[in-house]
Amino acid sequence: MDTTITASTLSPTLYVGVEDMVRLVQRVGLPACIAGVAERIEAAFLRWNDFDKRARLACHSADGVIELMPIADAEHFTFKYVNGHPKNTRAGLPTVMAFGVLADVATGVPRLLSELTLTTAIRTAAMSATAARHLARPGSRVMALIGNGAQSEFQAIAFRDLVGIRELRLFDTDPAATAKLAANLAANLDGQGLSVTVCASIREAVQGADIVTTVTADKTNATILTPDLIAPGMHLNAVGGDCPGKTELHADVLRCGPVFVEYAPQSRIEGDVQQMPADFPVTEFWQVLAGQAPGRTSAEQVTVFDSVGFALEDYAALCFVHDTARALGLGREIDLVPQAVDPKDLFGLLRAPVDALRIAA
Ligand code: NAD
Repeated sequence: MDTTITASTLSPTLYVGVEDMVRLVQRVGLPACIAGVAERIEAAFLRWNDFDKRARLACHSADGVIELMPIADAEHFTFKYVNGHPKNTRAGLPTVMAFGVLADVATGVPRLLSELTLTTAIRTAAMSATAARHLARPGSRVMALIGNGAQSEFQAIAFRDLVGIRELRLFDTDPAATAKLAANLAANLDGQGLSVTVCASIREAVQGADIVTTVTADKTNATILTPDLIAPGMHLNAVGGDCPGKTELHADVLRCGPVFVEYAPQSRIEGDVQQMPADFPVTEFWQVLAGQAPGRTSAEQVTVFDSVGFALEDYAALCFVHDTARALGLGREIDLVPQAVDPKDLFGLLRAPVDALRIAA
């Protein structure tokens, strides 16, 4: 049989690396990307029962964790590879790095291989702001932002655009990180519409805040927020406690008001609620969106979004990246998987002239 392989017989996968993701965000605009991903997250959470869900698989080591996050509905399967190594920044590496795949469920063909480090920052900010839109007091204008590292600009912009935050109160144990965040928000009008106050302590930062976002990185049971810092009506967006032994909230802060999570089986292992008994009440956020559970019930209530990052958010983000990159002609097709003329003759692929396998540029 003829074992000649041609480009047209290959099954191309779209590859969107960091360079193309930067192009995509520059073309679409960061606020529009955050809004686009937020819209898809909300739509996906409203289809909660369509998804085959599980807690992520985590490999822990002394200084960090490497995780795989799979999820599928009838059409697409996605997974994300992501790490969390808080000491990395000292070695010039990001704390969080990620990439992921979107595949067809019907055939298993991978349709997209994408960077997800930038995308994770976008989707985490989109998720945080979506939760706050439904849980924070209407009219919230002031947010304390504790932890001013890689995720922080994305959180600031998402809360400005989706929640209406106009004043940010910043604190980080590393003053250089806060200076970087303030400078990034001041540059290129990215932070237009946000007034920024640099604070000397967490206590100072939370003064008068409607919303407190904690997005710190430290592999320890930290107590960034203690009950004495919590004022009636606050919404807490706790992002950095996302791993066993890595929390941000004092246990009594979780008793200040209802706690909302993404996916309880994962959050009870990884979230701040890992500190609480197994029967501690939590509400999955999708139930609030679907009108099946109450969100905030009074202006004085303290609400807590105990975020860890769930695969469904990455599913939504990967779909956004795939559709947007295809529409803008960004990314390039790669031969991640082979497709021989005779699919049972994998061996025959090895006898093909390699040049014939190249996908046309
Ligand atoms: P980063 O290392 O770039 O920034 C973290 C910042 O926290 C640093 O500037 C550090 O100085 C500061 N910090 C550490 N301890 C502090 C303390 N006690 N008080 C104030 N500041 C403190 O990390 P990043 O990429 O911005 O991620 C931040 C956290 O968010 C990490 O813990 C990461 O695992 C988590 N994360 C969660 C999600 C999610 O979906 N929930 C998604 C992405 C990242």
